[in-house]
Amino acid sequence: MRTIENIFEAISAHLLPSACIVCGEFQKRNLCLNCSSLLKSEQLFNFECCQQCGITLTAKEIGEQRCFECETHPPYFDETYCLDRYEGILQSALHQLKYQGRLAYAHGLASAWNQLMTESLTSRQATYLLPVPLSQEKLCARGFNQAWELARRIRFRRSIHKNPYILLRHHHKQHQAHQNRENRYKAIQDMFYINPQYREHLESATVIVFDDVMTSGATLNEIARVLKDNGVSRVINWVLLRTLRPIHQ
Ligand SMILES: [Zn+2]
Ligand SMILES: [Zn+2]
Repeated sequence: MRTIENIFEAISAHLLPSACIVCGEFQKRNLCLNCSSLLKSEQLFNFECCQQCGITLTAKEIGEQRCFECETHPPYFDETYCLDRYEGILQSALHQLKYQGRLAYAHGLASAWNQLMTESLTSRQATYLLPVPLSQEKLCARGFNQAWELARRIRFRRSIHKNPYILLRHHHKQHQAHQNRENRYKAIQDMFYINPQYREHLESATVIVFDDVMTSGATLNEIARVLKDNGVSRVINWVLLRTLRPIHQ
């Protein structure tokens, strides 16, 4: 199935012109060569980032390779890799996907990831890649989970099982954007759970959690807590776009 999809994508990429997701120019690729090299020069791999939470480090923090926040309040996840900063050239493409429902942008964003991240992340051994689940409210409004739409198009050098049915979300109403940081942490507690069917598969496993955006890291931290409570030994975050410093409200 995957092979057929790959073949179809390869053929359509050659036959159909497509617009670059960043500059909109029509050509063969969904991320044109100019935008691809611009992204390559701006991507977060070029900067000193905290190994644990992916935030760019200040000069004082570089020696430890960890930010002050992770040193003083270590999160449950172990590593974080982000393609680009939130304010970078991919933000508007991500908004087209999330808020305009334009699924074609998932292909372009995932291909940006595949071009720039697949090589660098080859040494990461993991059993599963799990997308962050969306609330029922947002899923109904949007019609798809953008984290899964991106994750399913990501390619690996080694075999990692992508599965959107392991990590699940309770569906109580919440309006995260309007809450302060402390209340957001409280609202997130117990929001996620593991499908009992998969519990034994997670024992001592390394798991990658995929999300489109990481801001304070509270959601990913709670997910890592739940995963580790269920026997996972190592949690790695893969994130498309990262805000550079947590938002303190
Ligand atoms: Zn372009
Ligand atoms: Zn950190």
